[in-house]
Amino acid sequence: MTTAVYPGTFDPFTKGHLDIAKRTARLFDRIIIAVYDTPGKKLMFTTDERVELVKQSITDLPNVTVQSYTGLTVTFAREVGAETLVRGLRIGADFEGEFEMALMNKNLAPDCELVCLMASMKYQFLSSSILKEVARLGGNIDDLVPRPVIGAMKAKLKAARKTSKQP
Ligand code: ADP
Repeated sequence: MTTAVYPGTFDPFTKGHLDIAKRTARLFDRIIIAVYDTPGKKLMFTTDERVELVKQSITDLPNVTVQSYTGLTVTFAREVGAETLVRGLRIGADFEGEFEMALMNKNLAPDCELVCLMASMKYQFLSSSILKEVARLGGNIDDLVPRPVIGAMKAKLKAARKTSKQP
């Protein structure tokens, strides 16, 4: 049985992330989307909310599950019996950072492999941060995120406007 971990912040999970999860699900028996628990970082969604939004977005992918984790990604991968990490690569934006992280991970866990999937053309310029920026400024993001995320983002922005806090 082959198991891969797809780690990330997923604040929030976008259609670019979903595309990588779907394509990876055809390559491995079992995929675990691993949501990095970042208590100190200012994010739009809590860890539990991010996990829940991924869960609601992958209901049609039977071999994909979601879990949160803290600490080293390679340690988490070892704990769940995964031999591969998956990441998505967008033009320009991701390569150097991913390469650096991959070399460090290889050093920490030589038997753990990294598989990078090239981002699909239509999601090349999609990132969670630009998405949040556009949504805050009132732009339409409905085509870019799975359906459960649309409502969750709107609710966050509405709540933030009431308290005039930035989500
Ligand atoms: P991180 O903080 O670990 O970069 P992200 O949630 O931003 O977490 O991204 C998780 C993974 O998904 C990374 O490998 C990132 O390169 C990839 N990714 C992000 N956006 C896209 C996209 N639009 N298409 C394909 N892969 C993407």
